[in-house]
Amino acid sequence: MNPQLAQTFQSLFSATPLIAFAPGRINLIGEHTDYQEGFVFPAAVDFGIYIGIQKNSQKLCRLYSMDFDQEYSFELDYISPKKGHWATYVMGMCALLQQSGYKLEGFDLLIGGNIPVGSGLSSSAALSVAIGTAISGLFELGIPKKNIALYAQKAEHLFAGVNCGIMDPYTSSFGAEGKALLLDCRTNTHQEVSVDLQEFSLILANSKVKHSLADSAYNKRREACEESVRILQAHFPGIKTLRDIPESDLVKVESLIPNYLFPKAKHVITECKRVLEAAHALSIGDLATFGKLLNDSHQSLSKDYEVSCAELDFLAEKAQCLDFVLGSRMMGGGFGGCTINLVKTSELESFKTILSEGYEKTFQKSPDFIPVKLSRGAALL
Ligand code: ADP
Ligand code: MG
Repeated sequence: MNPQLAQTFQSLFSATPLIAFAPGRINLIGEHTDYQEGFVFPAAVDFGIYIGIQKNSQKLCRLYSMDFDQEYSFELDYISPKKGHWATYVMGMCALLQQSGYKLEGFDLLIGGNIPVGSGLSSSAALSVAIGTAISGLFELGIPKKNIALYAQKAEHLFAGVNCGIMDPYTSSFGAEGKALLLDCRTNTHQEVSVDLQEFSLILANSKVKHSLADSAYNKRREACEESVRILQAHFPGIKTLRDIPESDLVKVESLIPNYLFPKAKHVITECKRVLEAAHALSIGDLATFGKLLNDSHQSLSKDYEVSCAELDFLAEKAQCLDFVLGSRMMGGGFGGCTINLVKTSELESFKTILSEGYEKTFQKSPDFIPVKLSRGAALL
């Protein structure tokens, strides 16, 4: 990617670029906990977005996307991001940096990458973080990693129109080789956990579906959690979110909130506990316990939180039945996207064959498989 990016930059803009990289991310466990200020356990992966950048002594910023094979120009004094366009992430980051007082000048910028878009690996967060890293490097702004993640999140909110949490850009910024990040979504701070998968590997199975329910269901789940918190605050003084309630209080919670809210609250409360247990299990190399927590997480997301779908349930349940699979669950917001699987490395080919055959028979399409390695975060190369 690197030499090719530099070469393309040279032929488009007749200059040698500074190159920045930011990775996509997976989430090992901790789904639908972020908006209740709970815990998540993501990691950066070994592919991402590459940006070539150089000053051009003009007022104009000239952009080119290799994947879209498109160019785009804008002036730093007249930024008007267009929702849905890839250039929005560049304009959004520039607008936010300028609003914060950073002085930018015209630049040429080339985007390349190898993250499958829309498969739940967060290509958009990687793009924004790569842009922030590139601009910070080019103009020697020294923007801290955490601020780049916060600007990237804000760019998604304000310019892409996606109300996402901090996890994706944070992980793209802070990822580290062979490590997962135990991230506290209340304090936006993390602890690195070394991950040794021994004779096992992580592989994603992409269901290649995205059901239209996703957005409305997401908002409904958020509201259900907030409603539970409002009711519970009268009985648990001082709680701010469901994250503040220990699992040992579940029986009490059940007696206080309506039946239709309880499974939703239960998911968030138990998932926060699973994240902490999973981080502990990995830190002591207990892969069997970690795998079981993945399975429990899927069960909770599917049956209690009700954000799975037939395709994800099929892939997770099929994988869980195999004796060379330690754990499997849906990853991401739900209603489509990937499952994440912990599979014995020597059995990866059998894993793919068995899942593909079953999936094709039932859903008349084949899943894609994406092997992932826990890797470094954003950097200038
Ligand atoms: P994801 O779940 O992968 O983040 P999104 O829909 O949030 O999916 O973001 C995808 C968008 O991010 C694309 O439509 C495009 O605008 C931008 N994007 C992602 N990867 C690239 C790339 N390699 N080059 C240009 N734009 C990209
Ligand atoms: Mg995205």
